[in-house]
Parts: sequence; structure tokens; C-alpha cells
Amino acid sequence: MDWKTFDDLLSKAGACTVYEDSRAVSGGTMAAMVRVNGVKKLAVAGDAAKFEGEDAGGVKLCDRTVANAAALMETFPYTKPQSHQGHAFTLGLGDRLGVAAPGQLRALAGKDVFPILAQQSIRELTLTGRTFPDVIAAAAFGVFEAGYKGGYGADGDHLKTKEEIKYALDSGCTMITLDCSAHIKDDAAGLTGAELKAAYDALPQDLRAHYESRYGDKDLPLVGRLDAGELMHVALVFSGAVTHAIDCYHYMESIATTPFDFELSIDEARAVTSPAEHLIIAMELKAAGITPVSVAPHFSGEFEKGIEYQGKLSDFVRDLKIHQEIAEKYGYKLSLHSGSDKFSVFSSFSKITGGKMHVKTAGTNWLEAVRVMSKKDPALYRRAQKFALEKYPESSKYYHVSTDPYSIQDIDLLSDAYLPELVDLPASRQLMHISYGVLLAEDWFKGPFYDMLDKNEESYYEGLDHHISRHLRYLL
Ligand code: ZN
Repeated sequence: MDWKTFDDLLSKAGACTVYEDSRAVSGGTMAAMVRVNGVKKLAVAGDAAKFEGEDAGGVKLCDRTVANAAALMETFPYTKPQSHQGHAFTLGLGDRLGVAAPGQLRALAGKDVFPILAQQSIRELTLTGRTFPDVIAAAAFGVFEAGYKGGYGADGDHLKTKEEIKYALDSGCTMITLDCSAHIKDDAAGLTGAELKAAYDALPQDLRAHYESRYGDKDLPLVGRLDAGELMHVALVFSGAVTHAIDCYHYMESIATTPFDFELSIDEARAVTSPAEHLIIAMELKAAGITPVSVAPHFSGEFEKGIEYQGKLSDFVRDLKIHQEIAEKYGYKLSLHSGSDKFSVFSSFSKITGGKMHVKTAGTNWLEAVRVMSKKDPALYRRAQKFALEKYPESSKYYHVSTDPYSIQDIDLLSDAYLPELVDLPASRQLMHISYGVLLAEDWFKGPFYDMLDKNEESYYEGLDHHISRHLRYLL
């Protein structure tokens, strides 16, 4: 079959739009993303047995299901997530709604960056009622729609247990971000004097002997000598996390059937990661034969959701330089979490890491969708923001935000024309940022919101392109 015949069959079947960039042929299969009576579908002709759909006179019209995504990934391997090892700059994008990938990919065109299009934590899955297979299927269809062939990854983000790791890998995730926060003893960081000594002495004898023989009383690379108190703190706060990380890594190796990228995340620890802590973690991993692809320390300053960096940039840069030296020495790259909108740190992060970095943004794809709503459906926006405000005590439990939502103006006093401004004002921006879970759980919201977004797809893609391009301008 040729494209002319394909298009003729499609128009007979009622399809009015073909996404031109998606057209692809593999073996005897010819496929493209199309819109039929307003609904986006995958159209397959020729060898279409693997796909489930309605046969419309020689062309099969398929819904964007997990099963069809599996067939798509098998037929067109560029739509399948893959390991990013070897790429210097990797960017975590995430897509909570499952419709953002084509817009996100526009921002990447011609740039040397490997995207992690699918990136979800278990918390995000729970709050949006999605599964890892759903998330990966959405990315695969997005990649296909855009005709993007540069490769992308899928990150099981902030996973905490072996069960979560297994679920992510079985579902096709190619990157695992292990969040060790449950094994980091934050409380021990504040101990001093006799209390510190007593807590330390309560650790198993062999563990203490291990830390003392390796790190006590000697010059360590990059950080010099640790005093006794410092060593006790590191052992108390981080030894459990290190053991957990090693254990989980070996588990991943034992079950993974394809290459995966391992990121160790300690950024959720309460305290800022000191260079000595980072070094000891790096040395312990190395001794266990593990080289992560990336490590996310807790950098100094505040990385709140959806707003600029807050803190002393000079401290951030001073620490970053040492963290980078450690990362380089031990063969991995640094990872920056909650990177959305942290424009003031991007240039220095990129310069100091020499462009070998992982940056996670998340949630901005949702905020860009909120921006479209503020312009295209003011009534829905008003109702959504009022609801978000009501539910603020619930939503703020999960996220690191400080803005007082009660400083937001009474929305009934604002004109429709002003509503898009609210998407950029810190208080309302953070409020909407953290409220995706409570909103998407509401039937009055979810259906109309997705419809609005579908009807205004082009505006959404443009917004994503603009927003992510602004990040890349400073990162590249
Ligand atoms: Zn994190």
C-alpha cells in the first residue's frame, strides 16, 4: 500500500486529520496518528494483526491502549523507552496527564538532550489513578505522533521498595530512581556530645569497625580528614541508606532483562548533603561494585515546586563544585530534582557539571495545561482554583511548598482576562501545582479538563515548547 491509498481509506473511514510527522512504515505495516470524528486514534494498514481496533474498510482504527502501545513498540522500536547511558545531558520531563510528549519533544528538536518522557513516582501514579504501563503507553504514542526517533527513557521515580522496583522494571521502566529517605536517620544529624556517642555505640560493632577503618583518622580524597563526630554522624544517618541502596541494586540486577539506569536519590533527606557524606556514600557504593548513572544530593537552598530557587546561590555553587568533583571521581553525574523553574541555578549547574547532568522537571506539564484552561475555559479554571483552595490542607501534605495560598486574591473579583496571570503568580501557581491529585479525582473536573485540552491541543503543545525551551536556554 502507498500513502495515497492509505489516505483514501482513511477519508472514507471519516478521518479528517493525519498527524503528518507520525507516518511510519515497518515491514508490511503502515501507520499514522489520526483524528476520526474528533477522536485521536492510531490508524494501521497492511500487516495489522498485532493491533486491536475497528476495521474501517482496509484500515484499522485503534485506541491508545496499553495493548496497542505494546504492538506499536514492537513494530516501531523507536517508540520504546531505552537506557540513556552514554548521553551527557538527560532531562526528566514526566507527563502526569499522558498527553504532553509531542509538545515536550518540540522543545528538544535539534538539541543534544536525551529526554526521560515517562517519569512518575508511585505517589504521582496514586494521585492520578494511573499505572506504569499507562504512563509508558502515553509516552510511546506521543513519540510516535511526533515522529521522534532520538530515543527516550522511562523513570520509575522516587521508588522506595523492592516491590516498587519490580513493578517499574516489569512495566518497562529503563531508569530507577531509588529514594532512600526512609532509611536516612535524619534525627541523628542533630545529636551532639554524649547523646551522639551513645547512639553511635548502639550501632553494630562490625559496622562501626568498617566505617572507622575506612574513613577514620585518615586523609580522604577531596574532603580531607573527618573529625570523630563527623564520622559518627555519617555512619548514623546514612549507613542504613547505603545498605538499602546496595541491596536494591543487586536486586535490580537480578531481575532486569534489559539495561537500566540507576539513580541514587538522597535529596529527600531533611539536611543538606555535606561533601563528606556524599564522598562516603560514593566510596561505599564503589566498594560494593556499584557505579550509579546519577546521584541526587540534597543541595543547599530551597527547591520548592514550580517556583524559582530560594537561598544563597554562592553556597549552592560552592557545594556543587565539590559534589561534582566527587561525582566525576566515582564515574557518575549529578542529578538536580525539582528543577522546574529554577532558572537562576541552571547556568551554573550546567557549567560546573560540564554539561554531564540529569535534571528533573515535573509538574510543569500539568501547569501548562492549567494555563491553557485559564485562557480557554475560564469557568472551569475558576471552579478548579476554588476547589484547590478548599483542599489545600490535604494537597500540601505531599509537597514542599511555602507559599501562603490564603494570600491569593478572591477569584470572583478578577476578570477572565486576568486569570492566565494567576498561573505565574507564586501563590496561585504553587496551589495549582500541588492540586492535580485532588482535581483529577473529581468527575466534574477530569472529563471536561481533558476535553478542553484535547480541543486545544495545539495551544498546549505551544505552551510546553515555550516553557521547556526556556529551561533549555540556560541548561545548554
Ligand atoms: Zn527527589
